Amino acid sequence: MRLLLVEDNPSLASGLSLALSNKGFSVNHVSKGQQALRAVQDDKPDLVTLDLGLPDMDGLDVLRQIRKLDSELPVLILTARDSVDDKVSGLDLGADDYLCKPFEIEELEARLRVLERRLGMVSSSRIEFGDITLDTATLEVIQKGNPVDLSRREYMMLKSLLVNAGKVLTRDSLEDKLYSWGEEVASNAIEVHIHHLRKKLGASLIKTIRGVGYTIPKS
Ligand code: CA
Repeated sequence: MRLLLVEDNPSLASGLSLALSNKGFSVNHVSKGQQALRAVQDDKPDLVTLDLGLPDMDGLDVLRQIRKLDSELPVLILTARDSVDDKVSGLDLGADDYLCKPFEIEELEARLRVLERRLGMVSSSRIEFGDITLDTATLEVIQKGNPVDLSRREYMMLKSLLVNAGKVLTRDSLEDKLYSWGEEVASNAIEVHIHHLRKKLGASLIKTIRGVGYTIPKS
């Protein structure tokens, strides 16, 4: 899940980036409205959290512009403004949800999971496939009743493959899902994660499609 975090408060932004990337989001942080619009245009995220008080633009104008570019992109407004007027105009302009600062990170995560489910990428917080259960709320992976210890990126990769079971994911698309924007990716990184997943979950789960990518076939 690629999340665009639009927030001009540096300490809040770095706290949120850390917490959300630990929850399996690939986070792109920008601190200005113009940068947010550029990111939506050039490298579309799956979800946006949008602060309203930004240094260069009003967040509601950013939202208006985002809606012109993409009417479907889920946007959660995250702001210190808590007047009913702001809330109503945000929702009227097409925000999908609204959370007032200060908030608990758990609540933000829960609301992002709701938006994720609305995208149709996961139908509940649990994804079940064969003998594997992946819980997107607790980030736990259970195989045959036993917890499997995965690194954050192994978890993200397994989730992407399970959500897209039956489809082939290319190396590029997996890199996009696993790494944040602009992050340095070793050329064999994807192969290494696949290797570890096979070791932990069994060699037959993930198939290599030579020259294309990887898939978990639907049985
Ligand atoms: Ca702000």
